[in-house]
Amino acid sequence: MEKKGLLIVVSGPSGAGKGTVLAHTTEKYSNLKYSVSVTTRAPRDGEVDGVNYFFKSVEQFKKMVAGGEFLEHKEVHNNYYGTPLAHVQKNLSDGYDVVLEIDTEGALDVKNIYPDCVMIFITPEKFSTIEKRLRGRSTESEEQIQIRIQNAYKELKQAVYYDYIVVNEDAQQAAMDVISIIEAEKCKVKNNKKFIDNLIYGGK
Ligand code: 5GP
Repeated sequence: MEKKGLLIVVSGPSGAGKGTVLAHTTEKYSNLKYSVSVTTRAPRDGEVDGVNYFFKSVEQFKKMVAGGEFLEHKEVHNNYYGTPLAHVQKNLSDGYDVVLEIDTEGALDVKNIYPDCVMIFITPEKFSTIEKRLRGRSTESEEQIQIRIQNAYKELKQAVYYDYIVVNEDAQQAAMDVISIIEAEKCKVKNNKKFIDNLIYGGK
């Protein structure tokens, strides 16, 4: 079958556990590259520059915007976040599948640029879990937690624009669900036109 990199866009409210689900997903599915975003927010304990995010100052971020270095960029929860364009393009053209973990507004921008991208929305089963997880990780101030809870309602309302919803009660199971989606997408006829042409016209 032909190898064509899929662009997968994952969103969901803060506290949905997207990061953990995607960490399990990339561990189990080696063709998947996680797109490391650029942010102006401060690193949390244990976060590594270049692994979780590229941490930049607001000034550096604005320079990157002016230089056209982002596929999309947004202000989320009072910080700036952006997807570096070059990484995404290179990995897709090398045949890797690429996953972006971005907010719903950025996701809709990406959908306009790459209409074939696969949009997955990750959420816990109950809204109360969002607040519980945000408080449990003790990484945000009370003010930040309140901003994130308000934004969670806004993000949930955008779920209707996505192709798939994955409920994350168990991160390993949710990762398996994401992999099933990717595998099903790879089997879609529209993603295998060249393969079919080769069967017909490519000789024995
Ligand atoms: P956090 O600060 O919790 O790591 O991320 C906050 C929000 O920003 C999450 O919804 C996350 O998906 C989103 N985000 C992370 N990177 C990007 C990005 O490059 N672009 C956009 N638009 N949102 C991002």
